[in-house]
Amino acid sequence: MNYLSTRGHPDRKRFCEILLEGLAPDGGLYLPQTYPQVDTDTLAKWRTLPYNELAFEILSLYIDDIPAADLKAICAKTYTAEVFGSDEIVPLRELEDGVYLEALSNGPTLAFKDMAMQLLGNLFEYELARRGAELNILGATSGDTGSAAEYAMRGKKGVRVFMTSPDGRMSPFQQAQMFSLQDENIHNIAITGVFDDCQDIVKAVSNDLGFKRKYRIGTVNSINWARLLAQVVYYFAGYFQATASNDKPVSFTVPSGNFGNVCAGHVARMMGLPIQTLVVATNENDVLDEFFRTGVYRVRAAVDTHETSSPSMDISKASNFERFVFDLVGRDPARLRQLFVDDLGLKGSFDLSADPAFQQAAERFGFRSGRSTHADRLAMIRDTEKRFATLIDPHTADGLKAAREQLVPGVPMVVLETALPIKFAATVVEALGEEPARPKKFEGIEALPKRVVQLPADAEAVKAYIAEHCD
Ligand SMILES: *Cc1c(COP(=O)(O)O)cnc(C)c1O
Repeated sequence: MNYLSTRGHPDRKRFCEILLEGLAPDGGLYLPQTYPQVDTDTLAKWRTLPYNELAFEILSLYIDDIPAADLKAICAKTYTAEVFGSDEIVPLRELEDGVYLEALSNGPTLAFKDMAMQLLGNLFEYELARRGAELNILGATSGDTGSAAEYAMRGKKGVRVFMTSPDGRMSPFQQAQMFSLQDENIHNIAITGVFDDCQDIVKAVSNDLGFKRKYRIGTVNSINWARLLAQVVYYFAGYFQATASNDKPVSFTVPSGNFGNVCAGHVARMMGLPIQTLVVATNENDVLDEFFRTGVYRVRAAVDTHETSSPSMDISKASNFERFVFDLVGRDPARLRQLFVDDLGLKGSFDLSADPAFQQAAERFGFRSGRSTHADRLAMIRDTEKRFATLIDPHTADGLKAAREQLVPGVPMVVLETALPIKFAATVVEALGEEPARPKKFEGIEALPKRVVQLPADAEAVKAYIAEHCD
């Protein structure tokens, strides 16, 4: 399998070459040259496989530069009941007739990002050992991504993590999750400033090419193809649990921010998994809902990006969206560049409303969308608790709200649960007046010793810290 850039760069690369890279050299995103097709016989064989073996089957269609036995071992080591809390790994629960929640949040940090990041940690360790190389991951987080990356990379050989976060702005639980890690290869850096300052620092350090090369700086952000690929697996696993045979369509609703999660659903659908509809659920930051309703993709400025009670979906632009649009415009890199380089660069938006391709977003690719507000979120949390005795987090509530607007009789609707309620306790308390339950392993973590340094919002200070801790 070869990978290409959405923006038309002539190079073709293999999986392990792009594993440790971010953007393609022309600023595009990597995609496989074709989507492997899965027929009904294959689906029948896969239906009864344990999760780690299903993951191996799907991954091996996209990865041909890791020996099969090694890839199999990596999948077996990653997806265990010990790490993800059950043999199913992503158990499906029926809320009511035809509406399901797929649990993706029982990994080490209680959000779905563990599903991909845990695999990435093991792939990185494997590939770095094979190359005899090291990698220093520099990131910025306002919560979920940073903790998922740290729990995936902790103790891994050849990898260090330098994770910046805005000082005092994460929830106490999120801070405790990250700062209580005592592993020597994990460095928490609390920046005096806001999340944007952290992102600016990461950009500034990455743009210093000399520093980047010397200190082997890398990232684990959501545009990484390996993360997306790992997420394809749970669409298959959800499908098998929601159906008894492989001729039944299923729809999925996905709480969305950077379009990584739902893009994995698009890939699964392109491979031939019988997905009828992919519902993109957004909060007040409704860049994506606006596109799927109107055909206009309009990137927001920082001041127009709302701080909401589903904060992991607070985005101003959706960094994986370019992957879907590439397929939408028939994989034409010139057209793609016109939209993402010329139009977005010049006006901050593009308009496909008059383009037949836009009609295809719904008809050919199955996309629908929905949007919710803080009040919707609270109502959905209350309703789900009252009618089904089930506690959901605010992001999953955004999903459930959009799902209910798109139900089709006879077609199971699977809502992806992207976090556990304890991670966003304040909103759950606002809705229900009670603290959500906390898994045993997180009891009392706020009281554990913290391992974190404070630095000013200054890229030079962060560079100096990295240089000092890189021997
Ligand atoms: C990251 C995240 C999202 C958004 O996922 P994308 O892949 O960026 O669309 C939704 N919910 C939670 C809880 C998250 O952590």
